[in-house]
Amino acid sequence: MMLSSQVKGFLENASWIRRMFEIGHELKKKYGYQNVFDFTLGNPDLPPPADFKKHLIEEASKDEPFIHGYMSNAGYEDTREAIAKNLSNELDMDFNKKNIIMTCGAAGGMNVILRAILNPGDKVVILSPYFVEYKFYILNHQGQVVISETDETFLPNIEDLDKKIDDRTKAIIINTPNNPTGRVYEDMILIDLGDLLLKKSKEFGKPIYLLSDEPYKRIVYSDHKFYPPIKYYRNTMIVNSFSKDLSIPGERIGYIAMPPDLDGVREIIEACVLCNRILGFINAPAIMQRVIKNLLNSLVDVNLYMKRRDIFYNSLIEMGYKVIKPGGTFYMFPESPIKDDIEFSKILMNEQVLVTPGSGFGRKGYFRISYCQDEKIILKSLERFYSAIKKVE
Ligand code: PLP
Repeated sequence: MMLSSQVKGFLENASWIRRMFEIGHELKKKYGYQNVFDFTLGNPDLPPPADFKKHLIEEASKDEPFIHGYMSNAGYEDTREAIAKNLSNELDMDFNKKNIIMTCGAAGGMNVILRAILNPGDKVVILSPYFVEYKFYILNHQGQVVISETDETFLPNIEDLDKKIDDRTKAIIINTPNNPTGRVYEDMILIDLGDLLLKKSKEFGKPIYLLSDEPYKRIVYSDHKFYPPIKYYRNTMIVNSFSKDLSIPGERIGYIAMPPDLDGVREIIEACVLCNRILGFINAPAIMQRVIKNLLNSLVDVNLYMKRRDIFYNSLIEMGYKVIKPGGTFYMFPESPIKDDIEFSKILMNEQVLVTPGSGFGRKGYFRISYCQDEKIILKSLERFYSAIKKVE
């Protein structure tokens, strides 16, 4: 066999997002781009903040020795220092540049951590509905995926987690604000989660790490608030990126941040820096590190996403869909009006509307709408959503 059997398996389970992308491509060829309403991809459509271009041009014009050269695999010191300062202020904690590693986005950061900490067979818990790629990342590094289903409001189910965490559990990944649900975890649930992880770490005599995947932490609407998980559990590693808050996912820039009192922090940092190199990332893109250093307080216009959320949410509720109102991100995860979410996605497809079935995120009976689309397109699509729900009533 030419292929690795594991990768062959990955391909066979290829995510719904990719399949929908391919179907969308065909539909657009057939009906024309303007006549297909594609809500599948989480590819932010808002332009980056204006100062992004300014700093990019400035950095591109610099002409210093080794400006395009290799660097420490952890990244430029001044960028890491700026991030450490920013986090220290924001979280009222003491972050040091030594504990920051620049990465190729959150995806790069998550892979680096998992490579650094997992032994074959170590368990990593993810919460369904989950970001599809987590499974691949864990399997990439010989970990074992354990799924814990969130409750009906998409919050972690502490009782279920209590049962699923055992002496082989190395880490749990959480993502707030959440893809695919848009749910932002409040402090009560983070207190309970922190207590549980502390209890389990004591029970098994080793730390269970919380990997907090935070690429949407600043895409939070004014009627909600981001509660940083690290404030509720000491053994937390932060994975973050600028893909969403600066609308630059193609530029592949993010970071890992570890608190100074994380168990094993020095060894883990050293291992992550090595893994950044040996996984083939080497270091995060140089020019982006220099650019984002100046943009730590810049942000896309989140109010535009909020306006789209309000249009979609209010309209879908009025039509009879059941939806939990997103507090952030640019996703919502309505309940499918029929049990079979794949079937309902096909009904929407017949209306030339593309969404991703919840089955693709490990949660049947729902579908994901990604509203990285112009307001006009959203407004035009609404009658199609109405027509689809009428067909199954
Ligand atoms: N984590 C979550 C929850 C995401 O939704 C995404 C991207 O969509 C990523 C990680 C990867 O982000 P990045 O582009 O920074 O690698």
